[in-house]
Amino acid sequence: MRNGITHLFIPGPTNVPEAVRQAMNVPMQDMRAPDFGELTLSLFSDLRQVVRSRDAEIFLFPGSGTAAWEAAITNTLNPGDKVLMSRFGQFSTLWVEMAERLGLDVEVIDVAWGAGVPVKEYERRLAADRHGEIKAVFATHNETATGVTSDVAGVRQALDSCFHDALLFVDGVSSIASIDFRMDDWGVDLAVTGSQKGLMLPAGLGVLAASPKAMEAAKSATMRRAYFEFADQAKFNADGYFPYTPPTQLFHGLKVSLDRILRQEGLDAVIARHYRLAEGVRRGIAAWGLDLVAEHQSFHSDTVSAIRVPARVDARDVLRIAYEDYGTSFGSGLARLAGKVFRIGHLGDLNEGMCLTALSVAELSLSRAGARVPLGAGVAAAQEWYLDSAPVTTPLQVAAE
Ligand SMILES: *Cc1c(COP(=O)(O)O)cnc(C)c1O
Repeated sequence: MRNGITHLFIPGPTNVPEAVRQAMNVPMQDMRAPDFGELTLSLFSDLRQVVRSRDAEIFLFPGSGTAAWEAAITNTLNPGDKVLMSRFGQFSTLWVEMAERLGLDVEVIDVAWGAGVPVKEYERRLAADRHGEIKAVFATHNETATGVTSDVAGVRQALDSCFHDALLFVDGVSSIASIDFRMDDWGVDLAVTGSQKGLMLPAGLGVLAASPKAMEAAKSATMRRAYFEFADQAKFNADGYFPYTPPTQLFHGLKVSLDRILRQEGLDAVIARHYRLAEGVRRGIAAWGLDLVAEHQSFHSDTVSAIRVPARVDARDVLRIAYEDYGTSFGSGLARLAGKVFRIGHLGDLNEGMCLTALSVAELSLSRAGARVPLGAGVAAAQEWYLDSAPVTTPLQVAAE
């Protein structure tokens, strides 16, 4: 047994707010009842606000983010279509693998793990594509394996400067509802997320937003699909219903999490909080003298920090000690980063105290694993930042004249 609460600092699943957890504790209900549609229609319109789109079609597939990846591809592309992708971490790698398995002709640009979408190189390839053979361009907005955020607006500019009309696919699984994401402003055609990251729910929903251009492409796309067929979903979704049994519990939780994000805290405030909390964690890491995987500060992710441990330390020891002795989960180093990196997930339902706990347990675990980090230094650096950047919690009351 273990005393006290355990701590979850992984970049998904994230901590579920108690109010969201309670909201899911409801009896089963009839998903064909006359009033069921009201619940889901409100979810669609709220999710449209979360991705900042006026007219995207929202799909909620039982599944996870990976299911939404597959739905996006199979509904809008044809077998053998040429697509432009880049690989710089485990998640962007997996998306390339999926695209290849589904029979796309993938032009992959390999980039160092620690850098992001190579916007200039995308622009060069798009400019060279005079016959418009590239049907889609993919961008992993936040590479969760390396803690790197990419410039999606830059990808849109690259497309526009070449007058290229490829569809723009964005993996926003660890950015949507936590890092600034602008579907309409950036001309994103397919935006993917899952329920268990910024939306602060259990896993179980693949969330997909499709632009009118993507919906148009879906009408003639010939890739095989059945369960994920947009047309079946859209027909039922129009009144708030589904072609098969939806996870109603998750919908009740989602209603409350969206209410927290959009109306109680506000989307801009949610994004600002993620930056503020992440910056404290980064300052803590710098005070240990350790490096992030992200190569440049323009890549810094506000939802996850991937930290390189000193050469003679095995990051797996840090993870094991944190978990076994301090009841704390950090993210592991994925694929080629195994043993070299551990990650602190700082997204979702999180506050200063939690980030300071993450830093302090990391200091203990790093020290026990043989890294010489000055105890308390990371915590103090984060505290300084949280002090200096504190949001005004009590609104100033200006006396009425
Ligand atoms: C978590 C994650 C995924 C995978 O999502 P699942 O919900 O686990 O299928 C894909 N891309 C990124 C960037 C992620 O962080």
